[in-house]
Amino acid sequence: MKTMSTDQPKPRILMIYTGGTIGMKENAETGALEPFDFNHLLENVPKIKRLDYEIDSYQFETPIDSSAMHPKHWETIAKVVEQNYDDYDGFVVLHGTDTMAYTASALSFMLENIRKPVVITGSQLPIGEVRTDGEENLITALQVAAAKDKKGEPMVQEVAILFEDYLWRGNRATKHSSDNFNAFKSSNYPRLAKIGLGITYRPEVMWRSKNNEPFKVHYGMDTNVAYLDLFPGISENVVRHILTVPGLKGLVMKTFGSGNGPTDPWFLEAVKAAVDKGLVIVNVSQCENGMVLPSRYGAGFGLEKAGVISGHDLTSEAAITKLMFLFGQGMSGEEVKVAMENSISGEMNDKETIEKI
Ligand code: ASP
Repeated sequence: MKTMSTDQPKPRILMIYTGGTIGMKENAETGALEPFDFNHLLENVPKIKRLDYEIDSYQFETPIDSSAMHPKHWETIAKVVEQNYDDYDGFVVLHGTDTMAYTASALSFMLENIRKPVVITGSQLPIGEVRTDGEENLITALQVAAAKDKKGEPMVQEVAILFEDYLWRGNRATKHSSDNFNAFKSSNYPRLAKIGLGITYRPEVMWRSKNNEPFKVHYGMDTNVAYLDLFPGISENVVRHILTVPGLKGLVMKTFGSGNGPTDPWFLEAVKAAVDKGLVIVNVSQCENGMVLPSRYGAGFGLEKAGVISGHDLTSEAAITKLMFLFGQGMSGEEVKVAMENSISGEMNDKETIEKI
């Protein structure tokens, strides 16, 4: 009998464990869930060995609840990817769900010309519990990170979020449920894959680097940014305070519907004064789906006239991390304004695409 032998080397995956519910354990005294070490996580998924991959791991010195995530942690993750880029087929980042969409967006900007998968996953229930989504998510994330297309190239060549039934573009996803196993949604961009009996990839919507430049990691995130979430009745006092925070460089204004805001003269005048002083204000809708069309209503046009730029269909997570990233690269306000309206890594339909819609 002939033995079939494949000369295919085993997929090599690096797991980066940052913390989050997936690896948490109950504190015996308080009953609260707290991040635990990586060995605990692995002990609970013996099935991993059956994948027949070569898996190595890197863990944060102190695993964290993702609510404690900071741009310095994004830089650590990016550095680990950079230092190991040539040695692995793909990367799986284990991360809490609370700020996963921020990390995914930030990494998508920092990892320029990435041609390998960075699959971020976590879970709603700890992996050590009898009923858990952690095991499935981890195993599927590893499979996605190892997947190749027909040409033998990595199937996924971007930062993606794998959660329960779907693989999403990381900078398009948002956590929409703190309860549901399908915790993430991407309302303005289709899924990259559906996880069912098999994994059905959609290569036609996957990100591919548009040039032949080598992979390059960009460090430096400027945290002089903020959100201003509008609501009917927002006071002049609050608005003026936020618009004049010392050192503030970028502001994501979360507006109504297709990019509308109050039309009170004091509001538009305060916004214009802040823009004239150099604050970059980006208009992002409070609606999950659809895009900012500032000239559709007078209420949006006023903001545009005051110098607020359109965030098109950006998620608020992508908008704020993009501002941090662009200012972090040392760009001037004017340069940031131009760059905000153009896609870096598929986070938005840019001007060109929108003109065609
Ligand atoms: N608080 C947790 C975290 O983000 C929630 C989770 O992992 O789902 O780390």
